[in-house]
Amino acid sequence: MTVPSLALNDGTRIPQLGLGTFKIDPADTFRVVGEAIELGYRHIDTAAYYRNEAGVGRAVRESGIPRGQFYVTTKLWNDDQGAQQAQDAFNRSLDELGLDTVDLYLIHWPCPAKDRYIESYRTLELIRATGRASSIGVSNFMVEHLERLLAETEIKPVLNQIELHPIHQQPEVVKYCHEHGIEIEAWGPLGQGKYPLLELPEVTGPAAAHGKSPAQIVLRWHVQQRHIVFPKSTSTARLAENLEVFDFALSPAEMDAISALERAGRMSGNPYEVN
Ligand code: NAD
Repeated sequence: MTVPSLALNDGTRIPQLGLGTFKIDPADTFRVVGEAIELGYRHIDTAAYYRNEAGVGRAVRESGIPRGQFYVTTKLWNDDQGAQQAQDAFNRSLDELGLDTVDLYLIHWPCPAKDRYIESYRTLELIRATGRASSIGVSNFMVEHLERLLAETEIKPVLNQIELHPIHQQPEVVKYCHEHGIEIEAWGPLGQGKYPLLELPEVTGPAAAHGKSPAQIVLRWHVQQRHIVFPKSTSTARLAENLEVFDFALSPAEMDAISALERAGRMSGNPYEVN
């Protein structure tokens, strides 16, 4: 299955679907990412916080596939915000990965009480200028954090990685980002398994109609709205299944029924409170 890529506002491109690695055991990461690469995954999302950058980087390096064919994202953890701290944390991430560059470096959370995301982002701008991160962006930024970032820094983030699934769609921040040429990455695209999303008739109905699994229906709902997704799985069968979402389309009525599942409830951290 060929995964399409999206153009970003700095002239680079990103594969629209990849592998998420949150909560993949560091000891199992090399195996899982290696299997994903064999299945065709070329986009891997990790973070310093996940403690599994080493396994991600090793799987990429030992794959036998040229580095240029991969898209690797990692993130600056909250405790490392600050001008020099961000530089040091980035260097540690590259060391862990064993790579010379990352494709994308993100600020993991805005941490408003710390109030250091502007100075941290200015360091990301310097890192981008060295070419060691091809693109820079943010994660869990709400509209007020984005407004300030755009006003006080030079380089527009290529994307914002936010919690987004049918139960929690964050329409305000999505609208703001799309109006400003900032792509949306949907984390927890399957609702992190915390809500019986995959058992709802709005999802199981289209699954039966299209001969697809409920997870494939939800992933298709995302990609039809231009979201970039990286579902996490450690099972070979599910890794393979999650790639197969580019050979069918949901109808407007099917899309609308899934969008109507919005409950305005977060599954996970609140960007105003995580610090
Ligand atoms: P997810 O929505 O990808 O859900 C993962 C859960 O879905 C797992 O329990 C898995 O077993 C299950 N699953 C996967 N494929 C399935 C299938 N085909 N059928 C049925 N169940 C399936 O949640 P996530 O891992 O939290 O999010 C994806 C990625 O987003 C993470 O791995 C990470 O890379 C990123 N993320 C970022 C942030 C952030 O703050 N920036 C936060 C959380 C996650």
